Amino acid sequence: MKIAVLAVQGAFQEHERMLESLGSEVMELRKAEDLAEDFDGLVLPGGESTVQGKLLRELDLFDPLRRRIEEGMPVLATCAGLILLAERISNDRERYFATLPVTVRRNAYGRQLGSFFAEEVVKGIGRFPMEFIRAPYIEQTGGDVEVLGAVEGNIVAVQYRNQIGVAFHPELTGHEGIHRKFLELC
Ligand code: GLN
Repeated sequence: MKIAVLAVQGAFQEHERMLESLGSEVMELRKAEDLAEDFDGLVLPGGESTVQGKLLRELDLFDPLRRRIEEGMPVLATCAGLILLAERISNDRERYFATLPVTVRRNAYGRQLGSFFAEEVVKGIGRFPMEFIRAPYIEQTGGDVEVLGAVEGNIVAVQYRNQIGVAFHPELTGHEGIHRKFLELC
């Protein structure tokens, strides 16, 4: 199994290490030509969604990736990646792939609480260490979206068909549960 990790900006190396440790092959997506290679799943890492969105468009990666996600390619999106997938961003005019029927709030915890740690249950996985870095949370979900986890009433993990979106950074805390769940989807 081969997983493509979007590697234009942000925390992609940590995802690569974790996926490799779980036995999958990994490739980096940096330019349109990389799409010629076959892959079974896609990781959209954390970072800065505005920068990632701009680069995706400039590099001609945006439309082909959007199409693949719509066609059912499994995707794991973390933090900025979740913002890229969201159909609506309540405090931003931008929209990116807009394939995941949720409303997210960017930088939802304000500047003071920009980074924090929590541990809550993720459905089907159990207690999970959650590292939040200037994170979004999910304000609303569409009908078929399964809520996988929340922190203090705010939704931070969801699944919708082929798309798993989490507001925190599961690649940073050593727990493999979310990556395993994603690889099962693949
Ligand atoms: N604050 C970032 C954004 O709005 C997300 C932060 C992250 O990915 N850790 O894109």
